[in-house]
Amino acid sequence: MKRPSRDELQKPGYEIPDELKGSVVVTTLNRLYNWGRRNSVWPMMFGLACCAIEMIATAASRYDLARFGMEVMRPSPRQSDVMIVSGTVTKRMAPLIVRLYNQMPMPKYVIAMGACASGGGPFKEGYNVVSGVDKLIPVDVYIPGCPPTPEALLFGLMKLQQKIERQSFKEVYTKPDYIPEPVLGPDLMDPRDYPKIREYTQKKLQELQQQAAQAAQG
Ligand code: SF4
Repeated sequence: MKRPSRDELQKPGYEIPDELKGSVVVTTLNRLYNWGRRNSVWPMMFGLACCAIEMIATAASRYDLARFGMEVMRPSPRQSDVMIVSGTVTKRMAPLIVRLYNQMPMPKYVIAMGACASGGGPFKEGYNVVSGVDKLIPVDVYIPGCPPTPEALLFGLMKLQQKIERQSFKEVYTKPDYIPEPVLGPDLMDPRDYPKIREYTQKKLQELQQQAAQAAQG
């Protein structure tokens, strides 16, 4: 078969030779890349409260996350693509959630599962509860319910797949790679205060390092 030139291939109405019919697929690199990513979104093995039980049920045989290529729940953030925040986000857990998020490789996604993770839920305005994990890290999909059913979580995961499909190379690496960890304090912090939080965190860190150095000396 004579090899067609590039110009010939780009002509509208170019006839596909019979021997190539059914064996050649033309697609974009973006689509191929996203096809691979959307079918292997590995969640982090991570649960915070009652919603986590529903997440566990979703991964078990009746609902079977394996259908979506998501059954490999990773015990390490460094091998995870999505953090499913399943449960109440307490202020005590806030620095740990941000640290785990920071340790995930790009591109990374966050699902706020349930009323607590989405907005504080029944404990909103509680003295120890963060009113939504989006106060700490960027959220891609919110799933309502207290708790959401496994079906709802599956629907949220499919929404995430749709989002991944629509993304391009250019945008998947644009999220903030590092978010300063909040310091435990009496109240919530506002993401717009990140520069101030970073300054405060670094100051605290220096103080701790000085204390450790002094303790080591004497
Ligand atoms: S949303 Fe409801 S079920 Fe989920 S962690 Fe909060 S209280 Fe528990």
